[in-house]
Amino acid sequence: MMTAAANRPQALYLHVPFCRTICYYCDFCHEVYRRETAMAWLQAVKKQLEGTEIGPLKTIYIGGGTPTSLDPDLLDELLGLLDPYRRDTEEYTIEINPETLTDEKVELLRKHGVNRASLGFQTADETLLQKLNRHHTPQDVEQAAACLRNHDIDNISLDLMYSLPGQTMVSLQDSVRRALEIRPDHLSLYSLTVEPDTVFGRRGIEPLDEDTEADMYEWICRTLPAYGYEQYEISNFARPGRESRHNLVYWHYEDFIGISCGASGKEGNVRYDMPARLSAYLADPLARDELALSEEDMMFEMIMMGLRLKNGISEADFSRRFGIDLHDIYGEVISRMTARGLLADDGGRLACTEAGFPLLNSVLVEFLPETENTLAPAAGEW
Ligand code: SF4
Repeated sequence: MMTAAANRPQALYLHVPFCRTICYYCDFCHEVYRRETAMAWLQAVKKQLEGTEIGPLKTIYIGGGTPTSLDPDLLDELLGLLDPYRRDTEEYTIEINPETLTDEKVELLRKHGVNRASLGFQTADETLLQKLNRHHTPQDVEQAAACLRNHDIDNISLDLMYSLPGQTMVSLQDSVRRALEIRPDHLSLYSLTVEPDTVFGRRGIEPLDEDTEADMYEWICRTLPAYGYEQYEISNFARPGRESRHNLVYWHYEDFIGISCGASGKEGNVRYDMPARLSAYLADPLARDELALSEEDMMFEMIMMGLRLKNGISEADFSRRFGIDLHDIYGEVISRMTARGLLADDGGRLACTEAGFPLLNSVLVEFLPETENTLAPAAGEW
């Protein structure tokens, strides 16, 4: 049921839980693609969309998994399910693994209004790509980007990884150079984290040591702005005006709808997780785990998300949402972190300093209520 309700979330994330092959470091919700399962999943997505009140969307993000692992007719059907909501959509992103892209699929993306692509580049080192069990080359990414541009999808983001086992600084620098040759509009760079329930986790493979990782991060943050890519978030860099509008919804702590297994959503003071397992989602596409957030939870979460941004949190926005001044709640922590040179407060925005950015998790712990003193790092987060 589609409504024009003005107060509905204006952002939607849809998770496609299929990949053609499984990367050894991946702990996202994924299954090896099988057409019959994907057909059943599409029916579940249809049911969830029909049972969800969705207004006009400003941003849509189809992630995964690998959305382009779907056969063309199923991709067409999926995109068609979202057509009714995209009249006002400004940014419509799809994640792509280059080896799954064909001219036919790009034509479908264009037909259904997709205007931004996030391509998995990861590294230019083909030995490392094999170690990660990724089945593409840097040339495949170049060709995918060219194919997208030929069909007027010209807002292109590349994902890169660093702190990979065996990766050297020279290898990272070469990867960034090769990525820049593709002239992306946006770059996301994530350090490898090894989760126990992955091939890497089971094999005891580890990322590089913390010092090397820190050196790599520092080099990335220093280098990309020199090429016209502003760091606007802890792991994200963009040409002016090409920041990810959809991801800014998360970092500005606004509401969003989550569709399919592995997705989450937030509406007002309710955060929800869709089932992590595909089988559970197929059994009941409308079931979800809801968590009612207290005012205190939401204030902390707004800080947690906002401090990831280079320009931090708008203090006016905070007081508009919670009816209280940010300093009345966190004044003592802010003074302490400012004195240590980790936060800066220009009177209108509270943000991490250059020194504070790499230490974000330690800074955030200081904002937690005293009873909670641990903080799990976000995926790929520094
Ligand atoms: S990293 Fe991406 S492509 Fe690789 S298995 Fe995970 S979801 Fe699939």
